[in-house]
Amino acid sequence: MNKTHLRNLSLLELRDVVLAEGEPEFRFRQLATWIYARLESTYDAMTDLPKELRQRLAQRFDVAASAPVSIQQSAVDGTRKFLFEFADGARVESVLMRYDRRNTVCLSTQVGCPLDCVFCETAKGRFQRNLTAGEILDQICLLKREAGPPSEKINVVFMGMGEPLLNLPSVIAAIRVMNDPLGLNLGGKRITVSTSSFPDRIRELADSEADCSLALSLNAPNDALRRQLMPKASHFPIDELLDAARYFVRDGRRRVTLEYVLIKGRNMSPVDADELAALAHAQPFKLNLIPYNPGRHSPYECPNEDDIDRFVTRLLPAAPAVTVRRSRGVDIDAACGQLWNEYLMQKKKPAKGAA
Ligand code: SAH
Repeated sequence: MNKTHLRNLSLLELRDVVLAEGEPEFRFRQLATWIYARLESTYDAMTDLPKELRQRLAQRFDVAASAPVSIQQSAVDGTRKFLFEFADGARVESVLMRYDRRNTVCLSTQVGCPLDCVFCETAKGRFQRNLTAGEILDQICLLKREAGPPSEKINVVFMGMGEPLLNLPSVIAAIRVMNDPLGLNLGGKRITVSTSSFPDRIRELADSEADCSLALSLNAPNDALRRQLMPKASHFPIDELLDAARYFVRDGRRRVTLEYVLIKGRNMSPVDADELAALAHAQPFKLNLIPYNPGRHSPYECPNEDDIDRFVTRLLPAAPAVTVRRSRGVDIDAACGQLWNEYLMQKKKPAKGAA
């Protein structure tokens, strides 16, 4: 019988489980501390909980973390990429990066992705399923333990495999545990959900109790080009997406970043820069440019420094704050949009009977 995983419970549900065992409230706090502050994944380690309580919990609930089946480390910048395998064999990747003396973890929310953005490696694989909240939290708990002292704050970006807003209930549940002082105790400025579309769901996230920031993957300055680059995500026009993003920041507490992947020869012309500047100028958002990371067999080209300079120079006079994201872990295919497909390609080889 499959047991429920403790990380699939909200903190309120976790508390109810402990109280229903006839235990006092402080036992719940001890249990939450073991899971989310000390990042433990065995009942044996939870030595200040009565043994008999641990045995009763173990009969009904799993606490083990899914172990990564492989870890790759970049020789260039120390970025580490973790491949997780869950109970049903589904695999996702997560990345641990160090930026400005701060650790950032990049989490996956789905196994594969049902969208088909032409520049994204994840889109080349088959969409399999949504991750549970517990599987999302598993990734961050393990990477946080790898990153350093458990007390050290980290930043979280939902920029791994999948489209977070197509798995919104699990994403919201996971963020609520991240926000909670008895969970991972991370404020909304440290957590960024990146999405390519779905204005209604952006509003739903804004109205939910999950405290987070938003990144909107724009990637084209007009709907016609966006339809070519992101055929499914462009079902909703840019105007509607920006309306929803403004709703997200309406009370001034939250932040939105517009993301724009720079693909040489596709969305970097002077006219593209002018259109993007005009569009971004009217918004209360920052603009983050991401040089395209080519995957294997990629039909697109990444821009060189001159291409990027030219685009930024054209953009700057009219645009709001612009940053250019430098890729991490390029030598281990851990850069934005590069996750997972390498594994798919490796996996296919034996099936071809090459051995
Ligand atoms: N589905 C979500 C989150 C995953 S992609 C989204 O679209 O936002 C995270 C970011 O990586 C997005 O901004 C996406 O546009 C970008 N990205 C995808 N493939 C990329 C690539 N090959 N090079 C650079 N950025 C890429």
